[in-house]
Amino acid sequence: MKATKKLGTNTTCVHIGEVKDEKFKGAISPIYMATSYAFDGVDVKRYPRYLNTPNQEMLCKKIAALENTEDALIFSSGMAAISAAMLAFLKRGDHVIIQQVIYGGTYNFVVSEFDKYGIEYSFTESDKVDDFTYLIKENTKILYIETPSNPLLGITDMAAIANIAKDHNILTMIDNTFASPINQNPIDYGIDIILHSATKYMGGHSDISAGAVAASKEHIEQIWKTAINFGGNLSEQTVWLLERSLKTLNLRVKEQTKNAQIMAEYFVSSPNFDKVYYPGLKSHPQYKIAKKQMKGFGAMLSFELKEGIDAMKFQNNLQLIKPSMSLAGVESTTVSPTQTTHALLTEEERLERGIKDGLIRFSVGIEETEDLIADIEQALKSLL
Ligand SMILES: *Cc1c(COP(=O)(O)O)cnc(C)c1O
Repeated sequence: MKATKKLGTNTTCVHIGEVKDEKFKGAISPIYMATSYAFDGVDVKRYPRYLNTPNQEMLCKKIAALENTEDALIFSSGMAAISAAMLAFLKRGDHVIIQQVIYGGTYNFVVSEFDKYGIEYSFTESDKVDDFTYLIKENTKILYIETPSNPLLGITDMAAIANIAKDHNILTMIDNTFASPINQNPIDYGIDIILHSATKYMGGHSDISAGAVAASKEHIEQIWKTAINFGGNLSEQTVWLLERSLKTLNLRVKEQTKNAQIMAEYFVSSPNFDKVYYPGLKSHPQYKIAKKQMKGFGAMLSFELKEGIDAMKFQNNLQLIKPSMSLAGVESTTVSPTQTTHALLTEEERLERGIKDGLIRFSVGIEETEDLIADIEQALKSLL
């Protein structure tokens, strides 16, 4: 289906980028498994690693429509998308400014690979715009941000970042995984390149590894030229499964976002929790920026257990909510940053970053909030 005027989000999720089954008139997209296509009499030389098989090409239209961009590409993981997108615009001697708090895999990619390519990088001291401006040099090519960020749900002002970047002719990139296209469309605030781990909300059922990039035709063309050299294409079955998942993206994320607000307010009102980090709370230090740039406040939040309640025992007592490394599925999950993502830091380094032992990151699912609250209350009972 071709969009003539802007369709509703659910309609876009369901219909844009369908592969039409012309022959049998099936209701859903067939899968084209071919790795070999005729070269004669066709305009497009199709090949899986060229990211242009029928299923890949059509799914990219759905993702571009959801992100309001001209074009998109899909990859075998979020990191395949992030690494291809960054390296497409960087060469020896270039400089990148990266937000201090970013996904651990991205941090690792930068610090362990960039030196080999002779690419310079600086991490900001915070997510404040001045900290980016301060680091800009003659050779700065990319400003890289992530908002909301992990695990304390910090908010970066996208329009302000885009403005300083444009003043200096610098490209902007955002990891939009936590918000998903349902809650935030960075292109509308002037950000150039939008990155997703589709393993998270886009997949949504904790059974797909995938990544996506959305941007202008011109930027996608440049990323494509690098991406085909790295070869991080997604298998056709997974492309198809991701298309299936995206049909319910808006329904899932809307419900998860609604639940997250209720859960955040529950944590604030209960005496068993200290700090609660959620951009939808008026007490969040960047609430105003979040309200300006987000369509919904997202379904990720973090909370601190009251001093003396053991974070591991609490999570082990949960019956519905699963302690889990990943996030954004329809099922609610928790993770203790001290035990996982930040385990390699000393306690002092963790505290510098605002990460206490009792901090728990909560990925809110689609379950009824009464059931989630009851599960939390029963888990606390023996620990108080
Ligand atoms: C998971 C994640 C990634 C990496 O995605 P993979 O699909 O695991 O490669 C990048 N950014 C954020 C914010 C993530 O949560």
